[in-house]
Amino acid sequence: MCSLLLVSFAASALSIGATYLKAFQLFEWLTFDTWVRLRPLEAKDERIVVVTISESDISELGQWPISDRTLSQLITRINQQQPRAIGLDIYRDLPIKPGTEELETVLRSTPNLIGVEKAVGQKVKTSPILEEQEQTALADVVKDTDGKIRRGLLSIELNDGQVELGLATILALMYLELEGIQPELEEDTGIISIGQTELVPFKSNHGGYVGADEGGIQILMNYRGKQNSFSQISIIDVLNDRVAEDLFRDRIVLIGAVAVSLNDFLATPYSINRANQVEDLPGVFIHANLTSQIVSGALDGRSSINSISEFGEWIWIFAWSFGVSTSNLILLNRQSNLRQALLIFGSTVLSLVIPGLLLMGSGYLLFLKGFWLPVISPLFSLTLSTITISWYYNQNQTKLASIDSLTQIPNRRSFEEFLEQKWGENRKKKQNLSLVLCDVDFFKKYNDTYGHQAGDSCLQKVAKVLAKSVRNSDLAARYGGEEFVVVLPNTPPEIAIVVAQRICDRLKSLEIPHLNSEAGDYVTMSCGVANSNFEGVNSSEELIAKADKALYQAKAQGRDRAVLGK
Ligand code: GH3
Ligand code: MG
Ligand code: MG
Repeated sequence: MCSLLLVSFAASALSIGATYLKAFQLFEWLTFDTWVRLRPLEAKDERIVVVTISESDISELGQWPISDRTLSQLITRINQQQPRAIGLDIYRDLPIKPGTEELETVLRSTPNLIGVEKAVGQKVKTSPILEEQEQTALADVVKDTDGKIRRGLLSIELNDGQVELGLATILALMYLELEGIQPELEEDTGIISIGQTELVPFKSNHGGYVGADEGGIQILMNYRGKQNSFSQISIIDVLNDRVAEDLFRDRIVLIGAVAVSLNDFLATPYSINRANQVEDLPGVFIHANLTSQIVSGALDGRSSINSISEFGEWIWIFAWSFGVSTSNLILLNRQSNLRQALLIFGSTVLSLVIPGLLLMGSGYLLFLKGFWLPVISPLFSLTLSTITISWYYNQNQTKLASIDSLTQIPNRRSFEEFLEQKWGENRKKKQNLSLVLCDVDFFKKYNDTYGHQAGDSCLQKVAKVLAKSVRNSDLAARYGGEEFVVVLPNTPPEIAIVVAQRICDRLKSLEIPHLNSEAGDYVTMSCGVANSNFEGVNSSEELIAKADKALYQAKAQGRDRAVLGK
């Protein structure tokens, strides 16, 4: 439990650290984009109409930019149907003859017309008349570092401290004003309440973002869709009066270019292939989307895309990490009868794939509900902690399988593996391999005298003596019962007998009382030593048999001694 917590905590901390280094930002964005494309299509926004200027419109008009006369005719035609607001998403800072005076008259008599200017970076002014009448708005957009538009600019504060509103903001406010809805700013949080919705200002670490520019007031764009999510009509149709009755009435009308040659295209979550400009959205539809987001939020309670606090995100990451590595460990412990390697591999994959899908699924569901939570950082974190836990479990299992549980020294299985390996090496290099078999003297009597538990603790002490008496390259193991074995690679018999004798001496020097021993007052042991160069030793089994024979001799000679076989 403690290590689970620790591992999950460390993995989460690592993942959060990597998040702040922007390691996952692009992937979080790509997930965001995928979700935007994946979610069910919403109905058209009937409150907005876009007047488009396409390539064929331009060739039919025979002129670009369109003349002041054409523009004044366009505005007049639209305004005849009394829309609530008209947004002219075309830069018109200079007069384009003919018809400049006509346009002036129209501009002066159309208070619901908003022109655009660009205030960030390279600046473009709006028409002086509209500026004078304060009918201008910003057309600026905020691009992420991958060039995509995922945020909408509601307003910016200019150098002189004046606040200038974005085109969508103004159009939406004009529309809502006629519904009797006014925005209210909550001073301390910056949240703007408007009708049935709250616009939460974008902060630099919002959702999957890290350290993004939070200048002005921005919100995450909750796209309604691409072009076909809005009613459209071409400029030619409007000029030629081929407009359905009441198409513009009481609506927001946006006028903008969609002609490829005018190059007002922007990448959005809908743009999959960056090389394919056709997938990008004409700027006017970005404004249409943002306008729609504010208006339908206020009137229909359509959700925005919110995130949770940064601390909340940390908890979210940790919870996945902890939850998944815990269930992985439970799974590992449950099925201990399966083959270990297969089990660990299988359950780790299972513990990654299923929670991975679950994480993506719940992220998507939350997204549909209007919450954007990071998914790549928890995915990284849970993968890290699950793999660590599996590795840890594997290490533990391997250790458990090779260590004797009572004495905590290698068990018989380890001994056999070690001996096989060393026997092979010994054969190749023609070296000396020695083996010592040890057996505690009169141990049955010890048990009978002091009880089985005391016998166990005595065996633990014996094991310690053995472990301490050998080099790192040797192996001391419990052979079974009160019998132990020591493998001494690359050791001639004269040395092996010394080691064996030392073991006997050390055990006796512990002075563990053994009242009923016939070999002395204390616990003692007998050892038999054999060597691979002995006559008749052609296999590891024969080496053990030789040592056993020597052990028998040691017992027969009065115990508490080491005997070298022949
Ligand atoms: P000898 O000097 O001839 O070796 O006499 P011995 O009594 O040691 O011989 P024997 O091999 O007959 O007895 C071994 C005893 O060791 C029998 C068994 O009760 C005890 N024993 C084996 N394994 C354990 C163990 O794990 N714990 C305890 N407490 N006793 C054990
Ligand atoms: Mg025995
Ligand atoms: Mg014995």
